[in-house]
Amino acid sequence: MSSDRASLATPSRRTLFSLAGVGLSAGLLAACGDSGTAGEADTPVVVTGCYPMEYLVAQVAGDAVSITQLAKPGADAHGVELSVQQTLEIQGAALVVQIPGLQTALDDAIASEDGDNVLDVSTVVTQLGSDGEDAHSHAEEEGEEEHDHEAGADDPHLWHDPVRMADIGDAIAERLGEVLPDSAGTFTENAATLRTTLEELDAELAEDFGAVDGSRTFITSHTAFGYLAERYDLRQVGITGVDPETEPSPSRLLELEQVVEDEGVSTIFFETTASPEVAQTLADNVGVEAAELDNLETQLREDADYPQVMRENAAALLESWA
Ligand SMILES: [Zn+2]
Repeated sequence: MSSDRASLATPSRRTLFSLAGVGLSAGLLAACGDSGTAGEADTPVVVTGCYPMEYLVAQVAGDAVSITQLAKPGADAHGVELSVQQTLEIQGAALVVQIPGLQTALDDAIASEDGDNVLDVSTVVTQLGSDGEDAHSHAEEEGEEEHDHEAGADDPHLWHDPVRMADIGDAIAERLGEVLPDSAGTFTENAATLRTTLEELDAELAEDFGAVDGSRTFITSHTAFGYLAERYDLRQVGITGVDPETEPSPSRLLELEQVVEDEGVSTIFFETTASPEVAQTLADNVGVEAAELDNLETQLREDADYPQVMRENAAALLESWA
């Protein structure tokens, strides 16, 4: 795994480099020798906070960079905590791909350094508000308190929109081209190929979701799928808000039961990384199925990449409406 490679390389990158310097291939030295930064001739490190950004960097840069992925598979990406070593690695990285609002720890680490090594993706694509529910359900609960999550904060789960992903891929290619100018052309080409892949995925999802007759409402543990709902005209109802730590109130659960009844919802979706128990309990209480959606915050299966998981999620949603 790239993260293992990175963590091996990190603690003493300079030492490893000076020890291994003699043995490094002439090709690598030649590739980096002209940059005038002989001390940085080892592979540049790119830090990412969630799997989809890692996917983009890997597609754009291949082996030209070493990726440090902060969220470990199956962990809650929002709750990432950084070791001193990881904080140093962020400061020393060639590039840090940041989705503001996804991880407080990463946001704080970035705020405390004044480096120019950060790609803030909110400068590349527009972010949606964090409220995953639509106007309809809010009208119903008029007079009730807002949910616990931070009002007005942006929804960080933007990777569920393949077109936004393509735009971020282009931006990553541009930034990495500045880090490794000799490879800039390759990165641009790779990003174009990636865009084709993502736009094909988008067209396929648009067609599949567009063919649904009737309700396109789905209930899921935390509102990680707002961008999917926005792009394909679906209605996401979250058991909790964007923050998976929030517990639903009894009145919230009653509202959800009403949604199940009104919309003929057949399935309550849960995410392994966000309180699956709550979703399961709700499904049991209202007598419907529980099924899994993958929020893609981390890569749960090594053989399932971003486009594949997007297709699997779409298939699960379509089945719930069949
Ligand atoms: Zn999330």
